Amino acid sequence: MSANPYIKQYLMTAGPTPLPPAVSGVMAEPIAYHRAPAFIEVHASALARLREVFQTRNEVLSFASSGSGALESAVANLARPGEPVAVASAGKFGERWAELCSAYGAELTHLDLEWGEAIAPGELERTLAGMERPPRAVFVTQSETSTGVVHDVRALTEVAHGHDAVICVDAVSGLGAVDLPQDEWEVDVVVAGSQKSLMCPPGLAFASVNERALALAAESGGEGSGRYYFDWARTAEGQAEDPPNSPFTPAVTLWRALDVALGLILEEGLPTVFERHGLLARAARAGVEAIGLERFGPDDDDANVVTAASLPDGVDGAAVPKLMRDRYGVTAAGGQGRLKGKIVRIAHCGYFGAFDIVIALTALEAALGDLGAEVEPGAAAGAAQRAFAQAGRAPEPVA
Ligand SMILES: *Cc1c(COP(=O)(O)O)cnc(C)c1O
Repeated sequence: MSANPYIKQYLMTAGPTPLPPAVSGVMAEPIAYHRAPAFIEVHASALARLREVFQTRNEVLSFASSGSGALESAVANLARPGEPVAVASAGKFGERWAELCSAYGAELTHLDLEWGEAIAPGELERTLAGMERPPRAVFVTQSETSTGVVHDVRALTEVAHGHDAVICVDAVSGLGAVDLPQDEWEVDVVVAGSQKSLMCPPGLAFASVNERALALAAESGGEGSGRYYFDWARTAEGQAEDPPNSPFTPAVTLWRALDVALGLILEEGLPTVFERHGLLARAARAGVEAIGLERFGPDDDDANVVTAASLPDGVDGAAVPKLMRDRYGVTAAGGQGRLKGKIVRIAHCGYFGAFDIVIALTALEAALGDLGAEVEPGAAAGAAQRAFAQAGRAPEPVA
């Protein structure tokens, strides 16, 4: 069966995520010249809002790329050929750090955990202590989108700092969904992308870099450094001008979208935004458990970006997200890589509200029923609704 294009479509993936109408609307404005006052104002406003959302005083360095571009910028600026670095990973995106470090010829020590585990700070400690030479940098993931696990960034940062290494955190899916107060926790580098919890289209990537990491990067800048567009110093100098400047043509349309989206996040208020994500996740977990699916990954009330559930034996795992999309118009994600066909992932990061969870769970129940699983219609959706009732509110995002 192929997709039925005539039914209403619901985007329920962890990226790209749905856009608030005001964000879509502003992208219809005429293209602005990036040196003209109209754009300079948008750029300055969005950069200031980025600092609020990253909870930092750093310049949030911005690039026109997918999230991986900002990951690459961190490796290009901090890893050196033959110099030691460490990666701790337990999923597909964590492994990307390792692939990047290898691509740049760094001497890599990789704490490579089973997908779905949470990185235990003690294990990272043993890994770093066992290295012959201390690492320049340690690379970890906040929200591991491939498994739903959210790692303990604060504890991992303390471990890295105990070994005098800077820490780089991939928060591409989690920034704006789960609290990560960068300056308070002294996280050296936080990387994010526009198309997940930040409610924008794909195409902008961010690296919030503190002084210490900028200084480490500066040890290897210039000729033969192997970086140019992604050189942090070049972008940092431009953005630090008053008004902020961009060394290259910024993706002007996306900046308009970003400014509006960040405005909505700040209007809702970061604490309320995090609480909403927590409540949506709680309802999603209640829903999948109500139809007998096992939660994938550890029990963790902070895992509020994506809810991953193991699919029952005897059900064709790959068919579940396909049926949800083709028959019911709900695009949710299955498993990636080694989890292909084994899990289904319900995203609730960004522009998501209570009714989205009810819809996603209803489509999941229906697809499982179609595939012969014993599922009582309304069981998952009802459990989610009860979770909202218990909390006293069914949260919706500011639009
Ligand atoms: C989406 C994502 C990325 C980057 O993906 P792009 O496709 O390059 O935007 C990196 N890390 C995590 C945790 C992600 O969820």
